[in-house]
Amino acid sequence: ATPTALMVGTGRGAQLGILIKGPEVLETTRAVDTVVLDKTGTVTTGRMALTAVHTEEGVSEAEALRLAGALEHASEHPIAQAVAQEAAARVGELPAVESFENVPGRGVRGVVEGREVAAGREALLADRARWLPPALAAAKSAAEAAGRTAVVVGWDGAARAVLEISDTVKPTSAEAIRELRALGLRPVLLTGDNRRAAEAVAAEVGIPAEDVVAEVLPEDKVAAVRRLQAEGRSVAMVGDGVNDAAALAQADLGLAMGTGTDAAIEAADLTLVRGDLRSAADAIRLSRRTLATIK
Ligand code: ADP
Ligand code: MG
Repeated sequence: ATPTALMVGTGRGAQLGILIKGPEVLETTRAVDTVVLDKTGTVTTGRMALTAVHTEEGVSEAEALRLAGALEHASEHPIAQAVAQEAAARVGELPAVESFENVPGRGVRGVVEGREVAAGREALLADRARWLPPALAAAKSAAEAAGRTAVVVGWDGAARAVLEISDTVKPTSAEAIRELRALGLRPVLLTGDNRRAAEAVAAEVGIPAEDVVAEVLPEDKVAAVRRLQAEGRSVAMVGDGVNDAAALAQADLGLAMGTGTDAAIEAADLTLVRGDLRSAADAIRLSRRTLATIK
């Protein structure tokens, strides 16, 4: 490719809301055959809301929200912010946290009002607290089947509440995935969220269950990209979170949402300024056109 053609392509990219780190990026873009999509904040808006509280018999919603909210108040995770905000709105001032630990990809735990409290994935709770009473297990299943994330809250050695967190698929995501497929690319959904919630979101945007990689810990997102590369695929990854940065760097082509974190933007080769997944398809089309005019 001539430098002039690549410069023209880069300039056209800027007009389309696609910031390209260097001219050589357009050549890599043309070669990709697989697009790994982070779920939260990339396919979905990432603006979480707490939509329901389920508690064990004898536990009030206010108590569950007070304890979970106090802990989540100390975390910056979008789920944590949704919980803390709703808790503060419903129960008023949240108690202080005596000790706090953020466990990436799992949740938070600490001491509140002298009790050991945990909020997050079931696996975060101490062994004997992982058993969910039937009513809570049913609430969790129903929430996940509907594509929502269930946060299990436990204290004093038992699981005592399930909080339902909803996110919304971006209105342009399904269209973007159709466009990527029309360009011959295979979309894969990658997420730390539970499998059923991930599959529900995938179904909404047209990705089959076999192309969903769920319950991936933040440190394992890179390995997921490497596995696809080991199968001989040329992988583009689209993400927005701090959790996605290493995977964006590992991918043959990293695309960051402009609405995402600085860490993701720095690790990526391209930035989709509008945070609209359709720009990923625009980027592929642009690179193909730019390089086609050169030959
Ligand atoms: P994603 O890949 O969707 O960005 P993360 O890797 O950050 O998700 O988290 C994976 C899962 O861990 C979440 O879906 C949630 O179930 C749980 N989790 C993580 N952080 C928290 C938190 N602060 N509170 C509750 N649950 C959490
Ligand atoms: Mg994300």
